[in-house]
Amino acid sequence: MTISIVHIIEDEPLHAALLDRALRLAGLDTLLSDDGANGWRDIQRRRPTLILLDLMLPGLSGQEICRMVRQSSATRHIPIIMLTAVGGETERIAGLDMGADDYVVKPFSPKEVVSRVRAVLRRSEASAVGLGPIVNAAVRMQGPYVAVLLGERELILSRKETVLLQALLDRENTLVDAEELIPLPKGERPILPLQELDRDIRDLRRKLENAGAGSVDVLPGFRYRFTSRL
Ligand code: CA
Repeated sequence: MTISIVHIIEDEPLHAALLDRALRLAGLDTLLSDDGANGWRDIQRRRPTLILLDLMLPGLSGQEICRMVRQSSATRHIPIIMLTAVGGETERIAGLDMGADDYVVKPFSPKEVVSRVRAVLRRSEASAVGLGPIVNAAVRMQGPYVAVLLGERELILSRKETVLLQALLDRENTLVDAEELIPLPKGERPILPLQELDRDIRDLRRKLENAGAGSVDVLPGFRYRFTSRL
């Protein structure tokens, strides 16, 4: 079994130390970089399992790192969780559009970060083995990662959005509950609050609608319905 290395790219020493300690206590290996340029160099050298990425960094910004990770075939599969400031809605959306998988708002609880890391690692393991190519009238999904063809257009999705999109595609034109959209081992409760899943689905809906490929109806009670437009 390979050991997971969580790469923390964070220039604030206190935050970095808190994250490092919490992740190590949870049994994960860590790697620390305190600026953007070192962070990108270390990603290429060490190929971490997951990246915890601060957005405001000296050297290279978190957004730039995110874009470079997604552009390189050697690193584009590595999940990224962004660390964003309170109120950083614009940054968060930009980061998700650039292919980040999840985000945590500062100030964070180290426990919460560990839960997010575990959830993203579990999803990424599941997607590495479980997500084959999907062909649908609306959307063709290629491989486990992020390239989705919508007609002639390519859409870049995070892994989380890829998983959600697959779940919605499997149930096209059907009203589904939030719980049905999160693949979980038997008996396990979702870690994400439903409000958060709801936000993820709204982000995905925005991308689908921008590409003119489909829409997602969002109904009260955390219920959703995907409809193709192609
Ligand atoms: Ca910072």
